[in-house]
Amino acid sequence: MSTTGRIHSFESCGTVDGPGIRFIVFMQGCLMRCMYCHNRDTWDTHDGKEITVDEIINEAKSYRHFMKASGGGVTCSGGEAMLQPEFVRDFFRAAQAEGMHTCLDTNGYIRKHTEVIDEVLDATDLVMLDLKHMNDEVHQQLIGVSNRRTLDFARYLAKIGQTTWIRYVIVPGYTDDEASAHLLGDFIKDMKNIEKIELLPYHKLGAHKWEALGLEYPLEGVEPPSKETMNKIVAVLEQYHSNVKY
Ligand code: SF4
Repeated sequence: MSTTGRIHSFESCGTVDGPGIRFIVFMQGCLMRCMYCHNRDTWDTHDGKEITVDEIINEAKSYRHFMKASGGGVTCSGGEAMLQPEFVRDFFRAAQAEGMHTCLDTNGYIRKHTEVIDEVLDATDLVMLDLKHMNDEVHQQLIGVSNRRTLDFARYLAKIGQTTWIRYVIVPGYTDDEASAHLLGDFIKDMKNIEKIELLPYHKLGAHKWEALGLEYPLEGVEPPSKETMNKIVAVLEQYHSNVKY
């Protein structure tokens, strides 16, 4: 029987979550509590809708030619995809069997590293791992949980040589200082599996989702970083890695 998962939504022609044109599945549920979360409506693990791997792979297959021509594929994002590893594993296995590239967009908050986590990684061509802050105190303030599990997962990806992009969101007042960027650079500098560091400027496009849920947006008044700030962080990280983009 086809594995069932709980998803928030899917998008057929995404261009920002991995290489090329991508079919992106936004999984429902997340245990992090990022103050800047642009998908606030994905947090509740009981929300969203149920779908089987057969159903979602059939959807994805109809876009296969666009994806292939652009060097794209399928991405599992969220919410947090690794809360439903069986679904991701089976979806990725089915996608790879169809010749599609697979990308896992994750916050790396792995509660228990069981066999299924390795099975997901075996079926994953690219991991995009969010490293939100290296200082655990700031991490807990900004993200609501410790960074320990994510950093352990990053080390594990390096150990097994899993092709990985690091994503780092530049949030004014939290992650836009040079010292924080140096901490990140120092952490990843010897990790040979990292192909790229992608810097994402903080934006407020998801604020309306908080308001729609009757919640106060935690970063009200925080403006997106300037181009100068982004360039400053690029310059710091280029001291540690040759491929830093935003
Ligand atoms: S990890 Fe992603 S989905 Fe989860 S709270 Fe943070 S930004 Fe939102």
